[in-house]
Amino acid sequence: MDCLFCKIIGGEIPADKVYEDDYVFAFRDINPIAPVHDLVIPKKHICCANAVNAENSEYAARIFEAVPKIAKAENIESYRIINNCGEDAGQSVMHLHFHLLGGVKMGWGEDSLGKTE
Ligand code: 5GP
Ligand code: ZN
Repeated sequence: MDCLFCKIIGGEIPADKVYEDDYVFAFRDINPIAPVHDLVIPKKHICCANAVNAENSEYAARIFEAVPKIAKAENIESYRIINNCGEDAGQSVMHLHFHLLGGVKMGWGEDSLGKTE
């Protein structure tokens, strides 16, 4: 399958891995927007949050089990998890992924939407 993140999981494309188990793979974002910016992804190709269902939801659950371990490994107590689902939300890679952001004090509110228009 021609999927960037499947290729990263398979080792075809190198990445800075921070965590891996049977269900979850996490690696540093190539273009970080925070001191800690990891991408946490299922090791099964699921295109986006809209495609999580009863058959594959174990992967989503395992991602949320892995997140605290990844945060601990990255030495952050506070973090933000973001999933962009769909084009208008900014999803550019069609393999489900959660941005794990930390290492900086973050704002909350309209300005944090990062609107482009
Ligand atoms: P999205 O915009 O789909 O929510 O997030 C995709 C993320 O993947 C972006 O933050 C982008 O920087 C990251 N990314 C794109 N290509 C690569 C790559 O080849 N390696 C890594 N480590 N990150 C990538
Ligand atoms: Zn994929």
